[in-house]
Amino acid sequence: MADYDVVIIGGGPGGYVAAIRASQLGFKTAVIEKEHMGGICLNWGCIPTKALLRTSEINHLLHSLDAYGFKAEKISFDFKKIIDRSRAVANQLASGVRHLMKKNKVTVIEGTAQIKGKQGAEIELIVDEKTSLKAPHVILATGARARQLPGLEADGKLIWTYKEAMTPEKMPSSLLVVGSGAIGIEFASFYRLMGADVTVVEVQDQILPVEDKEISAFARKSFEKQGIKIHTSSTVKSLKTNRDSVAATLEIGGKAQEITVDRVILAVGIVGNTENLGLEKTKVKVEKGHIVTNEWCATNEPGIYAIGDVAAGPWLAHKASHEGVLCIEKIKGLKTAHPMKKTNIPGCTYSYPQIASVGLTEEAAKASGKYELKIGRFPYLANGKAIAMGEPEGLIKTIFDGKTGELLGAHMIGAEVTELIQGFCLAKTLEATEQEIMDTIFPHPTLSEAMHESVLDAFGKVIHF
Ligand SMILES: Cc1cc2nc3c(=O)[nH]c(=O)nc-3n(C[C@H](O)[C@H](O)[C@H](O)COP(=O)(O)OP(=O)(O)OC[C@H]3O[C@@H](n4cnc5c(N)ncnc54)[C@H](O)[C@@H]3O)c2cc1C
Repeated sequence: MADYDVVIIGGGPGGYVAAIRASQLGFKTAVIEKEHMGGICLNWGCIPTKALLRTSEINHLLHSLDAYGFKAEKISFDFKKIIDRSRAVANQLASGVRHLMKKNKVTVIEGTAQIKGKQGAEIELIVDEKTSLKAPHVILATGARARQLPGLEADGKLIWTYKEAMTPEKMPSSLLVVGSGAIGIEFASFYRLMGADVTVVEVQDQILPVEDKEISAFARKSFEKQGIKIHTSSTVKSLKTNRDSVAATLEIGGKAQEITVDRVILAVGIVGNTENLGLEKTKVKVEKGHIVTNEWCATNEPGIYAIGDVAAGPWLAHKASHEGVLCIEKIKGLKTAHPMKKTNIPGCTYSYPQIASVGLTEEAAKASGKYELKIGRFPYLANGKAIAMGEPEGLIKTIFDGKTGELLGAHMIGAEVTELIQGFCLAKTLEATEQEIMDTIFPHPTLSEAMHESVLDAFGKVIHF
């Protein structure tokens, strides 16, 4: 007889959210976690980095006080306190997850789980010599780890992955960031605003490669104005560690260039944690380091599901949690369960300025050849609240299909856009037409008015620009 209805391997935002929903629906549920409940997101990802970015934003503001009529001298910081605060925030949230497990009567088993085999329709898992359990439904939510490049491996001392980058003992004075996805750019922004000399190298021809080209170019200009050195279509050929510095050979425009930096951050993507799970005893398929699933998160092996970073991208916490819920609701057979529309998943970069987007980029919309594009733009420079806040740098770009009025994509850069993007997410979920968004009343004065104006601009009705 099964010990549980549902067992989840991994207690990150995919696993713990799936566990809560399973318990709410009356399933006897267990989560097996080998390290910390909350996973990468709460302990080593989303949350501690946002605590650090809040600090660097404050540092930036403190150095711009004159513009607001303040006078302050000798502004300094205690780096250890900054890191300690970030760790305290992470710990507070991770302990909140442990509390949620208790409250929802989810059994938490500490240990490393592996699939042992199948007995009829039940999957048998082993945790250690004494602990094994059976369940008809097993969800793999084991997450991912930093990708290592051959010959450029992190040593944890001078060459960092994200973990070391968020817990250094001292502030580096110069840094090389390899990779300009959201993680690389967030660290580049944090360290630059804290005063480090930062260089970013990106192999693709634009930073933030998944973002709309126009927004990426806007971001690049802004980061370069702040003093970040950016090399696109460039690579790192070698990293040579010295006692307290790293000599890096870069290839920029086909030419080799040497730079010496205090530390290097490798942010070149992730690989799913698919190893040592006993998958070879099942029909579960792994492709390019991630588990293959259908739209309900089911793998090729009946009874085994995969959600979050261990499955296909985008590798984001909210995508992991959403999959956790839809997977459980499908197992329960709820009529309201429905697959996720990947084009409705927002992506955010919490740098200064912030970047947020949902849906198709202009390039992707054009390449599909399916739409009659109507594109609207509205700059923060023409938005009253942005000017009043002293944050005039920003742009809201919206992309519609002129034939149907469908909002295909929204791309934003500027203050608080990571909070604002939700408005466009809702519009996409509700399949709002351009007319419905135009008919919506936006409060004044707010940054959100720039969203409204961008939509108006797409249809030749912009008011304030
Ligand atoms: C620096 C950084 C910043 C990020 N910022 C953001 C952000 O701002 N927004 C965003 O949406 N995403 C962000 N992410 C990505 C986000 O953290 C991940 O998408 C998210 O954590 C994935 O959730 P998950 O549940 O799939 O896996 P994870 O959070 O990785 O959790 C997996 C868990 O499984 C456990 N585990 C693995 N194998 C086993 C096993 N065999 N037995 C038992 N337990 C096991 C692990 O210990 C881990 O706790 C960031 C990531 C990083 C690294």
